[in-house]
Amino acid sequence: MSSIVIDDLHVSVADKEIIQGLSLEFSTGEIHAVMGPNGSGKSTLAKVMAGHPDYQVTRGEILMDGVSILEMEPDERSRRGLFMAFQYPMEIPGVSNANFLRAALQARLPEGEELDAIEFYQRLYQKMDLLDIRREFTGRAVNEGFSGGEKKRNEILQLAMLEPTFAVLDETDSGLDIDALKVVAKGVNTICGPGIGILLITHYQRLLNYIVPDFVHVMSEGRIVRSGGKELALELESKGYDWLKARKPETVGAN
Ligand code: ADP
Ligand code: MG
Repeated sequence: MSSIVIDDLHVSVADKEIIQGLSLEFSTGEIHAVMGPNGSGKSTLAKVMAGHPDYQVTRGEILMDGVSILEMEPDERSRRGLFMAFQYPMEIPGVSNANFLRAALQARLPEGEELDAIEFYQRLYQKMDLLDIRREFTGRAVNEGFSGGEKKRNEILQLAMLEPTFAVLDETDSGLDIDALKVVAKGVNTICGPGIGILLITHYQRLLNYIVPDFVHVMSEGRIVRSGGKELALELESKGYDWLKARKPETVGAN
């Protein structure tokens, strides 16, 4: 079993403290949902885990199997098994989807080992079929001219191909119609299992009808203000976020 431990994390961007003492642990075999209103710091958490250079960790730790990842470059975090699907996926003009995925997989192999091209395409087509992605997409530049829904499916294709130990999915549901949402959920559900830990960041409960989390955490003003099981998401759906806002962690559960 592998685990990620986030301990008393404080993160600043442009001298403003966005994450203010966030602690969270998750392990392989678990799906954790992080929910919260807009601006609560969810994407900041994802970006700081990925190693985005604009986000400064001023206090606290992020440990992967006991090893701090904070000093690691993003590519090293990735090779160690951390995957990030961004809320706003980047377009990479000039790099085809197939070449991008091949390079990413090749980078994970030991020195001197070559990725088998036939096996690669077999796997790629199998995962594309699963995610309803047309074959022509292999030759198109990564995310260039893709619709919002296509970009999100493409993120899940990358996830399916890279088979990471940990995946952080930032609002993979936003901008999807119900059919696309089901396809994305099917993709994620096919991937999840004992070998992977998933952190699902979402504003809405809707996605959690299709991907059922083991744990739900609510984020407000840069910290986790409440944690519970999947029923917590339903409570949020009916009550909204206001009842949890601006409550300090130590007061939670006091009533
Ligand atoms: P969420 O994903 O929960 O909607 P974000 O993490 O995107 O929240 O943003 C949290 C807060 O941090 C917001 O007030 C946002 O304006 C601020 N913020 C995030 N990134 C930056 C940045 N690069 N520069 C300045 N402020 C930022
Ligand atoms: Mg966000």
